[in-house]
Amino acid sequence: MMDAVADYFAEQIAAGPRARDGAERRRIRRHENVGIHGNLCSFRAHLGMAKPPVFDFACECGTLGCRERVLLTVDEYGTALEPHEPYVMLREHAGEGEAASLGATASLVG
Ligand SMILES: [Zn+2]
Repeated sequence: MMDAVADYFAEQIAAGPRARDGAERRRIRRHENVGIHGNLCSFRAHLGMAKPPVFDFACECGTLGCRERVLLTVDEYGTALEPHEPYVMLREHAGEGEAASLGATASLVG
């Protein structure tokens, strides 16, 4: 499904626009991840899956050009959507400061 959507919009995605800074990149990746998360939750409910599906969500760090992915269940990613909405990123991209571990390789920051 996600590949079909990406294929459909491949030309527009390649043409841009591009994030101008790290903050904008974070917002764009968050927006994409939230949409995917919603689709996965819908599929899970429709199929009656007891076990949460796992997906490689985009790293939400502020590094322009980062293409890393973080493997999380939809329930784990859902914790990033709780109030104060911290960003999800590859643990190595979390930098210094407050971060909580999430899944095997991710951190919640912010
Ligand atoms: Zn990153």
